[in-house]
Amino acid sequence: MYIEKGSQWNAAELETAAHEHLISPAEEMAKLGTSGGRPMFASADGVYIWDNRGHKLLDGPGGMWCTQVGYNSKPIADAISAQALRLCYNSPWYSLSGPAAELSKRISDFAPGDLNHVFFTTGGSSAVDSALRFVQFYNNVLGRPTKKAIICRIDGYHGSTHLTAACSGRAGNRPNFDLALENVSFISAPNVFRRPKGMTEAQFLDHLIAGFEERVNTLGPDNVGAFLAEPLLASGGILIPPKGYHARILEICRKHDILYISDEVVTGFGRCGHWFASEEVFDIVPDIITFAKGVTSGYVPLGGFVISDKVLSRVSGENAKGSYYTNGYTYSGHPVSCAAALANIEVFERDNILEHVRDIAPYFQEKLQELKTLPLVGDVRGTGLLGCVECVTNPEDTEASEFDKQVALRVDRYCYEGGLIVRPIGSMCVLSPALIITKEQIDEMVRILRDSIVKVQDELKAEGLW
Ligand code: PMP
Repeated sequence: MYIEKGSQWNAAELETAAHEHLISPAEEMAKLGTSGGRPMFASADGVYIWDNRGHKLLDGPGGMWCTQVGYNSKPIADAISAQALRLCYNSPWYSLSGPAAELSKRISDFAPGDLNHVFFTTGGSSAVDSALRFVQFYNNVLGRPTKKAIICRIDGYHGSTHLTAACSGRAGNRPNFDLALENVSFISAPNVFRRPKGMTEAQFLDHLIAGFEERVNTLGPDNVGAFLAEPLLASGGILIPPKGYHARILEICRKHDILYISDEVVTGFGRCGHWFASEEVFDIVPDIITFAKGVTSGYVPLGGFVISDKVLSRVSGENAKGSYYTNGYTYSGHPVSCAAALANIEVFERDNILEHVRDIAPYFQEKLQELKTLPLVGDVRGTGLLGCVECVTNPEDTEASEFDKQVALRVDRYCYEGGLIVRPIGSMCVLSPALIITKEQIDEMVRILRDSIVKVQDELKAEGLW
């Protein structure tokens, strides 16, 4: 029965099983064993999801920034099925598979500069973790055992392994965990909206660059191994750095032989209208790019990093000194996942998805900007098919207040009722829909969001809270 049409259990039975037995990421432990408020999704098509009560929802976050070609793509499902029947598994520790080989070539072709070698993992956290472990390996092989510090940013997000969690600077993810912080150093986020009062954007850029340079000098360049950064901070609230930020940081990295890791787990695979955003949108060719999510449009897990020939050549071939990069997983570059990724790329090419994003993104941004006239909206920002609407009840606040976080939750509840998933991050409603979204669907999304914000404004006033 399960094979033919999914579970035999009805909605209530499935919910009971989940409440009694399932632990979810970011589980609110006080609510474990209760209904908890997390919806259960049953099916999906294109940009829409149906929950297990039959309620149709436009998927604003695109799963978790990952459903690029949309739900229910037959070519991807068929490729998964065919590969599962042909060769469902091979151990990457002692063998190769055709899909991984072909995909490594495709990704090398998309990647900028001489980034021509791909290391596959199982998702975004393992991709970034593997890149960071490569930095350790690299400097040890080069005989520079002190060159290990990783500089990253407050409000950045890089994953949920021991090391990537340590490199993630979002305060809300930290309580009650021990973090591997000994080689991790944080600098400010390039948050233009919350920049110090009275600073122009150009001054803010100089201030950020000076902060990075000062940190390198304080730690000592011989102790700094890598700079790790998302091109734009996604989970941090679509924080787009001032123009020139990455290029200027890269220049300092080059000067001190510090590896530049661009975490494109969110921005890769079309989110900004290009395979990767580092070069096309942010004008840099980093040493390493990490990717995941959109590489399979979320159909199956996969991630990895692509690295430059220049960096790799320093610790390979004659320079390898008998070393092995003993990092990897049973499911690194799983053949079914790589087959799904190849089919995903075919769908991108068949349907001109990158061109579509470049065409429709200005409309998406323009429609979101229209929300700025609402009194509850403090800022609207975005690029490509990434957008953020930030709720601000008190413009004097220098950071998001607890009250504003509750306000965003209220907006989210009305959106859900109205047929839109938002999944607020703190006070921010972040949108990253599937890349196939149409103008009509953007209109629908922005209309539901606007109506919901207006309802919350009225409600807060009626309750005397604002
Ligand atoms: N890097 C970035 C920029 C991310 O946004 C995420 C996940 N949201 C990760 C890494 C971790 O990816 P995963 O959840 O697939 O492990």
